[in-house]
Amino acid sequence: MTRPKPTPATTASKSSRKAKPAVDAAPAQAPQARADKQPFDIDVALERISQAVQPFPKAGLFELAEDGFNSTFQQLVACIISIRTYDEVMLPTARRLFAAAHTPEAVSRLTPAQIDELINACTFHEPKAQTIHDIARRTVEAYNGDLPCDAETLMALKGVGPKCANLVLSIACGQPFIAVDVHVHRITNRWKPFNTKTPEQTMVKLEQWLPKTYWVDINRLLVPFGKHICTGKLPKCSTCPILEMCEQIGVNEHR
Ligand code: SF4
Repeated sequence: MTRPKPTPATTASKSSRKAKPAVDAAPAQAPQARADKQPFDIDVALERISQAVQPFPKAGLFELAEDGFNSTFQQLVACIISIRTYDEVMLPTARRLFAAAHTPEAVSRLTPAQIDELINACTFHEPKAQTIHDIARRTVEAYNGDLPCDAETLMALKGVGPKCANLVLSIACGQPFIAVDVHVHRITNRWKPFNTKTPEQTMVKLEQWLPKTYWVDINRLLVPFGKHICTGKLPKCSTCPILEMCEQIGVNEHR
């Protein structure tokens, strides 16, 4: 595989280097931009990240969409299965359910217990089975089997939060929405002093800062980037393609 070349060495590339104090240490003051960093260029950063993640598996919902499971209903069901569940588990679980029933009509004909049996590899499978059944029935009864591409409609469904709604709207509907999961939240807060505590707060900040052209791609790119390079613990900063511009906020140890 072709890994991106490390950016020019800076003092930040030494694993023993201590990063500036974490945002939590001084919540009242936004950290100053680091003098040893280049201005953050989102175009360059996302282009480099796009190259860097090519060897890795795609984010789960994007992979399902490429496999043809790209309807609003299918993407929403897969996103519900994915909650607190690794893509490695979500993907075969969603495929197993869709092999048995891949339309709202077919899913609504299953009982919650049958759905539970099909998705029992994922976390919280029992409540998720009930949620999926309820959504299938509502889609059939209220929307004639065609779940609309509408944020209010999706968010009104029990068990659907902003991350899933935005992912569905962006992937299945092609609408500009930012889906902020743990990876997007963690990584962007390392890039710049957004100082956000929750994915919802990060979504608001990103809506102000991120060019709209990247609203869909930010999740597609940062999920594999967060799993394999900018990991939760010991991110691979020394070989990261955007080291020269990332402020590494809160990163005290890295590879
Ligand atoms: S791996 Fe390190 S340098 Fe790269 S984005 Fe993450 S924190 Fe920044």
